[in-house]
Amino acid sequence: MPTIQIPQITLNTGATIPQLGYGTLALQPDRESNETNAKITEPVVTQALEAGYRHLDTAQAYGTELGVGRAVAASGIPREEIFITSKLANANHTPDDLERSFEQTLTHLGVDQLDLFLIHWPLPTLYDGDYVSTWKTITGFVADGRLRSAGVSNFQPAHLDRIVAETGIVPAVNQFEIHPYFNNNAPREACARHGIAVEAHSPLGHNSAPLSDPTITQIAEAHDKTVAQVILRWHMQHQIITIPKSAKPERMAENLDIFDFELTRTEIDAIDGLDRGPEGRVGPDPDTYEGV
Ligand code: NDP
Repeated sequence: MPTIQIPQITLNTGATIPQLGYGTLALQPDRESNETNAKITEPVVTQALEAGYRHLDTAQAYGTELGVGRAVAASGIPREEIFITSKLANANHTPDDLERSFEQTLTHLGVDQLDLFLIHWPLPTLYDGDYVSTWKTITGFVADGRLRSAGVSNFQPAHLDRIVAETGIVPAVNQFEIHPYFNNNAPREACARHGIAVEAHSPLGHNSAPLSDPTITQIAEAHDKTVAQVILRWHMQHQIITIPKSAKPERMAENLDIFDFELTRTEIDAIDGLDRGPEGRVGPDPDTYEGV
């Protein structure tokens, strides 16, 4: 197996997370957690581990936990060398559902302790807007030893401010949409204020639009790298943790091969300048999202 040196970021819990990981959204034809899908996901995640990824991002709502767990078990890689993140599905926010579904997550993944568990979406328009109780319940899993670090995903500044003010417990990570067309500076600034690590989802833009951007193409040519590599390097140099998804082994390797070059300040500024604000968002708006 290749030995790629991936930088580690230290979280406010003292745990370390590989800055570059592997996303598992949409590896399967649907989001069901079943045998058929596990048989599709396991070999792909095995390829990601063989490429050198040691940080895997799954979620109850992706249906990929089972395949991820099987790939990890079959890899023979010591458990402590693989960082696994999962996320709470939107249907499971009540305390009973949270407890039951977290146990199922541990079972699917085949682990006694999960490295990071995130509230997938804040859902301020559901559950009487009470994501604070959800947050408290998740932090209880850290207290009882089943979880190493608790975090959130798609939390806006007001959501972060509220859970910290009402519980005094600061999330380790906030995972939200960031890519060259959507810099999403407000939650990044709120994370910096609270000491929360920033993790980008959809780092390449999900639908691949930034992958044909002329400015980034020019920068990529100057470094003899691909556009995807330049975008991922831009995330790294902003100290952002990220988790690109590819089902293709050659792209898995390409996305890891970003630690032998550096973008200049001018190049980073040029990519920052491509931000389209809210127009650039490709995923749902966390203030209104009520989906899966
Ligand atoms: P990405 O930004 O990672 O883009 C994935 C797309 O880019 C796929 O179509 C993939 O195609 C293509 N791609 C990957 N690498 C390359 C490359 N080197 N060159 C050209 N195309 C490439 O999108 P995601 O939305 O999947 O985000 C990544 C991860 O973030 C998810 O898998 C998931 O784990 C997480 N996520 C979390 C969310 C949340 O709400 N917390 C929301 C969305 C994502 P192909 O597979 O064919 O290579």
